[in-house]
Amino acid sequence: MNKQQYIDKAEENLFHVYNRFPVVFDHGRGVKLYDTDEVEYLDFASGIGVMAFGYGNEDYENALFSQIKEITHTSNLFYHAPMIEAAEKVVKVTGLSKVFFTNSGAEAIEGAIKTAKKYAYLRDGFAGHEIIAMNHSFHGRTVGSLSVTGTEHYREPFYPLMDGVKFATFNDYGSVLSRVTDKTCAILLEPVQGEGGVTPADATFLKKIRELCDDKDILLIFDEIQCGMGRTGSMFAYQQYDVMPDILTTAKALGGGVPVGAFVVNQKVANKSLVPGDHGTTYGSNPLCTAAVSTVFDMFEKYKLCDHVNRIAPLFIETLDRLVEKYDFVTERRGMGLMQGLVLTVPVADVVKKALLEENLVVLSAGGNVLRMLPPLVITEQDVDNFKVKIEAVFDAM
Ligand SMILES: *Cc1c(COP(=O)(O)O)cnc(C)c1O
Repeated sequence: MNKQQYIDKAEENLFHVYNRFPVVFDHGRGVKLYDTDEVEYLDFASGIGVMAFGYGNEDYENALFSQIKEITHTSNLFYHAPMIEAAEKVVKVTGLSKVFFTNSGAEAIEGAIKTAKKYAYLRDGFAGHEIIAMNHSFHGRTVGSLSVTGTEHYREPFYPLMDGVKFATFNDYGSVLSRVTDKTCAILLEPVQGEGGVTPADATFLKKIRELCDDKDILLIFDEIQCGMGRTGSMFAYQQYDVMPDILTTAKALGGGVPVGAFVVNQKVANKSLVPGDHGTTYGSNPLCTAAVSTVFDMFEKYKLCDHVNRIAPLFIETLDRLVEKYDFVTERRGMGLMQGLVLTVPVADVVKKALLEENLVVLSAGGNVLRMLPPLVITEQDVDNFKVKIEAVFDAM
């Protein structure tokens, strides 16, 4: 089939819930993607922050091939080695105590919400608790995760959503404090907001929120589904802020390309929240996905990938800062490590489309008219140079 035939067949059969770009990707190597016409693209999106190691990594592929030959699914009625190994690595790297594997980020959020509610239920002896989430947050598209997502146009058609959610202003401690009541069970936030516009938390904001939570026995939930897994230069962003969550959610790069997420809790929460019968999943923690998780953690160590991010990110940031100086419609750079955004005054959708179709550069948008870059963490100086040439060509034509 040629490209147009693929696209026509897709639109004939797939529920039209996405406005896809007219590109049919076929395979990838390193930080390059290739479409069905063998056109090469430079990928600075990594499948929305998933493909941290880029494409076609042999260590990763071999680990998955050998797991597929053993067993891909057993259910959570039984134990199996890949899940056990992955769990040990997640606990070690996060500094938390217990992990529950899910199939997606949204399900990790669902689990975190249920855990916080059950914790408060056992503490107080009754239900009906509240969660404080942030404006411009993004936590997923399921009804529960949408209920804590602070972007009205995602929510509006689906009311009523889950009750008891209050939205506060990100990086505004007073705004959070004013929403705390006796019923508050959790404060949920992304240490670096992703979809909302690539906005890092202020260090003092996170520290004060942590103190507030300690003071009132409120659980602090960090959603690091996008900003975690080495993206900001540490395995999780909270490690740079030196503020521990009670519950962490992770997904996206966690499995290096297979659908997997997790919520991870500290010992205090594990001792007094979900028990057998409270929660479950058929696929979650299956051998294929947890073998992938385990391999991803091994590869982070083998390639010293966080060190690499910390080496290459300053060059990328400098390149982006130059763009802010050079183009008057680029007003600000924001982000941490290899999670970066440029605030534009020209429509970001036009920039993303032009970059893809005219310069074969894959970039993303985020809320607040932000051009968002989430390159594979393995990018080199050469890739940053190539990015610069392509994005300048796009900007020059704006
Ligand atoms: C992508 C994302 C989610 C949702 O993950 P899915 O796997 O798409 O369900 C939740 N939180 C954040 C911060 C995300 O970036």
